[in-house]
Amino acid sequence: MSKTLVNVNINGEQIEAPASFSVIQAFWHAGHTRVEGIGCLEGVCGSCRIMVRKANSKEVRMQLACQTFVEEGMQIIFMEFPSPTHHSYQLTDIKNSWEVQSKFHQIFPETSNCRKCGGCTESCPKGIQVQHGVELAGEGKFREAGELFIECVMCNLCMTACPEHIAPNHVGLFCRRTMAYFHIRPSNLISRLEEIRKDELQVII
Ligand code: SF4
Ligand code: SF4
Repeated sequence: MSKTLVNVNINGEQIEAPASFSVIQAFWHAGHTRVEGIGCLEGVCGSCRIMVRKANSKEVRMQLACQTFVEEGMQIIFMEFPSPTHHSYQLTDIKNSWEVQSKFHQIFPETSNCRKCGGCTESCPKGIQVQHGVELAGEGKFREAGELFIECVMCNLCMTACPEHIAPNHVGLFCRRTMAYFHIRPSNLISRLEEIRKDELQVII
């Protein structure tokens, strides 16, 4: 553990913590038994959303608290909001891949109102080109859109940032689901399945 201590402000409270700590560790270190909005601690579940402003900077970034190390003078606020989605659908209701595009626009009609403001992309802690993903989906390029959202952790920040109440992460999830459902699988997965079928897969233990 680093012996260097830094001063940060978390949710309005001044906290001193080792520089090697993540924001969550620093908050715990200060005696807070926070568990809400905290999940895997591996940067995968997207629960620990924070707004971060570094010392001497006016820029505010959206990040994940478990993946952000504290720095001197940092200001941090945990973001808490419900995670509603008003989209409900069953993939089994889509008869074939030709229907995907019309179903998509029935399920996500608000997507066509995208202002191309970039708010969703700016808010994404995973660096995903979210706006582009929404545009691709709107054009029926579901495979490309699904691949673009592959690192999405469903933190909902893009949805919160959208002035048109579009839920880009759910658009991405729809693309990923339909990709898998209609067997448009990644080429490396198909290669592995073929190796299994031919009993050629090398298992290293
Ligand atoms: S696309 Fe949206 S939900 Fe997914 S990680 Fe980025 S901001 Fe979070
Ligand atoms: S925040 Fe909403 S309106 Fe703006 S670019 Fe993203 S999806 Fe479009």
